[in-house]
Amino acid sequence: MASIALKSFIGLRQTTAEKPHLMTSQTKHNSLNPRKLTVVASKSSPRLTNRNLRVAVIGGGPAGGAAAETLAKGGVETYLIERKLDNAKPCGGAIPLCMVGEFDLPLDIIDRRVTRMKMISPSNVAVDIGQTLKPHEYIGMVRREVLDAYLRDRAQASGAEIINGLFLKMDMPRDGESPYVLHYTGYGGKAGAVGEKRTLEVDAVIGADGANSRVAKAIGAGDYDYAIAFQERIKIPDDKMAYYQNLAEMYVGDDVSPDFYGWVFPKCDHVAVGTGTVTHKGDIKKFQLATRNRAKDKILGGQIIRVEAHPIPEHPRPRRLSGRVALVGDAAGYVTKCSGEGIYFAAKSGRMCAEAVVEGSENGKRMVNEGDLRKYLEKWDKTYWPTYKVLDVLQKVFYRSNPAREAFVEMCADEYVQKMTFDSYLYKTVVPGNPWEDLKLAVNTIGSLVRANALRREMDKLSV
Ligand SMILES: Cc1cc2nc3c(=O)[nH]c(=O)nc-3n(C[C@H](O)[C@H](O)[C@H](O)COP(=O)(O)OP(=O)(O)OC[C@H]3O[C@@H](n4cnc5c(N)ncnc54)[C@H](O)[C@@H]3O)c2cc1C
Repeated sequence: MASIALKSFIGLRQTTAEKPHLMTSQTKHNSLNPRKLTVVASKSSPRLTNRNLRVAVIGGGPAGGAAAETLAKGGVETYLIERKLDNAKPCGGAIPLCMVGEFDLPLDIIDRRVTRMKMISPSNVAVDIGQTLKPHEYIGMVRREVLDAYLRDRAQASGAEIINGLFLKMDMPRDGESPYVLHYTGYGGKAGAVGEKRTLEVDAVIGADGANSRVAKAIGAGDYDYAIAFQERIKIPDDKMAYYQNLAEMYVGDDVSPDFYGWVFPKCDHVAVGTGTVTHKGDIKKFQLATRNRAKDKILGGQIIRVEAHPIPEHPRPRRLSGRVALVGDAAGYVTKCSGEGIYFAAKSGRMCAEAVVEGSENGKRMVNEGDLRKYLEKWDKTYWPTYKVLDVLQKVFYRSNPAREAFVEMCADEYVQKMTFDSYLYKTVVPGNPWEDLKLAVNTIGSLVRANALRREMDKLSV
């Protein structure tokens, strides 16, 4: 999590919308005048007779669970294919407060409510952040096996059919109305089952199958840069756990990561200790060891109970949509740089995409087309592009050297920075700043960066 207070003096521009690439007669027209065509196309999409629209969601993480629930509630015949129903996605599990409200999450699936955060600099200067939080505000800490199962169960209760299966590939439709034929190995909910080859015909597909998305490959969505993140779940003695009761730690420095941060996040009866990197993936275990070392006094006597690693996308894929197939969550590439946050954005994009399908199909009564799905992308880019851009800039400015990281931690001591940071993180809205405080912050930031640069020059001289 990092401040977006700087947005006021970093020039931001809205992204241009992704171009359609399937040049059917409809999309040719769409690319010239998307708004007009969308309306015409949706009116001219055929009504379905004797059945409702059929949509398959591939992947049952937060993106897939949220998408399937919205589709099923909206009158769409919904299938969710998940390869592992007890999947424990490698993840820090930190979620913003707004997710609890917007997705109506029960409090008993949240392990910890973090109200204090320590930001720890390369020279181990610790700054406490969180003093500006109001009594009801917190960062939620969840275990993904709990959150994902909860969201899937809720989708099922809303009418979605959950299929325990591994999606393999799909045959593309001949025209705008024929089905996609999905090929998958069905396990029938039995752990360790060998599985049977099966097929499923659907009218549209939502790819929510994470960073290694097969749906993305099937539609030629292109690749993205990615970070590798590594995490150990460590069971620590009760007195040590008491320290992490409502506290999370973030460590920055060349030792823990050249381009990311290390973390200690509290869970029900253990802590999750991890780090990530894009640029030095081969050294990830060295960075993990350094993160553990930095926290060593506080996790002394701990037992590693689980080791996990997974890619984190760095930016959206070149294409997120093709015909009646759309990507959401990590499959699309919706993780913020600097913070590595993706759970909320996954659930939100899943829901937004499903809403576009429900709306375009008039509650499952009509066929949908690419124009209907494109509305989701347009809304997504308009809503979140500035957040992604600001965090991208912050990462470039503050994670590039140890002196810059010292400056970053120094800045985090400022109450105004803390308030803007938490408000932006917890509520995912662009918080209007106070112009006088913004100006002070700009001056202080420039001051910190000038000091950081001067310090770096001195260090460079010493190493010559
Ligand atoms: C170590 C680590 C720590 C992180 N910490 C945080 C954090 O603290 N907070 C935060 O907000 N984000 C964090 N993230 C990012 C976050 O985990 C992701 O952004 C988020 O999980 C994306 O959700 P998703 O539903 O798009 O994909 P996923 O959660 O990856 O879910 C994809 C699902 O699809 C299933 N699947 C995949 N392929 C197939 C297939 N072929 N057939 C059937 N099913 C399939 C998988 O089993 C999985 O259940 C972290 C990531 C990592 C790696």
